[in-house]
Amino acid sequence: MTDTAEVVVIGAGIAGVSTAYQLTQQGLTDVALIDPRPPLSLTSDKSTECYRNWWPNRPMVGLMQRSIDLLEQMTEESGNAFGLSRHGYLFVTASDERLQAMRRQAAVTSGLGAGDVREHPGALPYGEAEDGVDILDANTLQRHHPYMTDEAVGAVHVRRAGWFSAQQLGSWMLQRSRDVGANLLKNEVVGIELDGDRVRGVRLDDGSTIATSSVVMAAGPMSKAVATMAGVELPLFSELHLKVAYRDHLGVIPRDAGMIIWSDPQRITWSEEEREGLAELGRDDLLGEMPVFCHGRPEGGADSPYFVALWEYHREILEPTWPLPDDPLYPEVVMRGLTTMIPGLSPYLEGLPESSVDGGYYTKTRENRPLVGPCGPEGFHVVAGLSGFGVMASPASGDLAARHIVGADLPEYADAFRLSRYDDPDYLTSLSAEVDTGQL
Ligand SMILES: Cc1cc2nc3c(=O)[nH]c(=O)nc-3n(C[C@H](O)[C@H](O)[C@H](O)COP(=O)(O)OP(=O)(O)OC[C@H]3O[C@@H](n4cnc5c(N)ncnc54)[C@H](O)[C@@H]3O)c2cc1C
Repeated sequence: MTDTAEVVVIGAGIAGVSTAYQLTQQGLTDVALIDPRPPLSLTSDKSTECYRNWWPNRPMVGLMQRSIDLLEQMTEESGNAFGLSRHGYLFVTASDERLQAMRRQAAVTSGLGAGDVREHPGALPYGEAEDGVDILDANTLQRHHPYMTDEAVGAVHVRRAGWFSAQQLGSWMLQRSRDVGANLLKNEVVGIELDGDRVRGVRLDDGSTIATSSVVMAAGPMSKAVATMAGVELPLFSELHLKVAYRDHLGVIPRDAGMIIWSDPQRITWSEEEREGLAELGRDDLLGEMPVFCHGRPEGGADSPYFVALWEYHREILEPTWPLPDDPLYPEVVMRGLTTMIPGLSPYLEGLPESSVDGGYYTKTRENRPLVGPCGPEGFHVVAGLSGFGVMASPASGDLAARHIVGADLPEYADAFRLSRYDDPDYLTSLSAEVDTGQL
């Protein structure tokens, strides 16, 4: 039984596993990773598993660039055990005005260090770029992505982006950590013990205690509650997010497509009878204008018939509970939304393909930036608020947390993710002006 550890990590989701791995990379191997659930099984295996360096502010671009660097490094070390792809994100619009706004945003994000902007048609061909962004006019879009609606006037193709298996990445990091001495304990942390204003240990549900001077709290949707055990109040809330996997037996979505995103609001065309039925069910949320960003991507290899899709029209802030509140109409509503972008999917409106829904919570701060670093009593650290980007941000977040703990050099974005940022009145003022949080 481990009764002391140099560092205790609470939570073996992708955030906790990545932190444990990065601690071992910093040479610290006496690490106890504690979770009552199987590793990666609460939120981290429910994600769409996508990544991008395309964010609307400098700290998030910096964090994601570092994360992608680490993902690429681990891809090499592991022989691509987690299938990192680089298909990109394709933001599509049917509005000239929106395309202009996307073009302006591209210039801003490029200026934050996310790579060059290339217009098509233009000086360079629209090819296999690894970085930056390609802006496509309607003709270029149709020529290269003929499955798109001809209503589309253009698109923005983000290139340092794609997806990978979060479960495989997590398993690889966990195994590597255990190989050098990290311990995984199947327990719940029920208390954090303090000695004055410093951490002394954690109490487990079996009545035992682990003495430690460093605790990293990475409890995902439970982060707010677990932090209070150390007397720390985290400004976090949770939103329910679902995703649906369809069996595309008609083979409509090309297997080499990227993450495809309809960037306009839209209205679903329901028959009069359907409208009445939905109104009776109290589903007025489906009758008016629906939000932007109905999106999806192929899932699995070249022979797989599956694709996964999301459309965040719920926008519900909830106390996390399981099983998740369900929405029986989700597969149908998302398919209708996708058909606006990909008319070839319309046969599925007559008979939905086989589908399955899962999901979880985006636990987040109001400005959608994570909390990483020390806070509260000495020795207490958090990796939390990873929202809808925790899979892509975990490598850099774990790296940042580990650097804080061992006292290594910190990257320039470190302060932007501390809890203490909310003590700065200028930061709070800047938040009220910020509109784009980068969330899909
Ligand atoms: C539908 C959906 C789509 C998503 N798509 C993407 C995407 O495309 N790209 C992306 O980057 N991110 C995506 N995300 C977000 C990503 O999945 C999360 O940000 C990430 O999984 C959070 O990881 P975590 O380790 O913080 O939390 P979790 O995976 O929830 O892990 C937290 C762990 O803490 C444990 N725990 C809690 N309390 C205690 C305690 N007291 N003692 C011990 N252990 C405890 C829990 O048991 C759990 O295992 C998506 C999320 C959803 C729901």
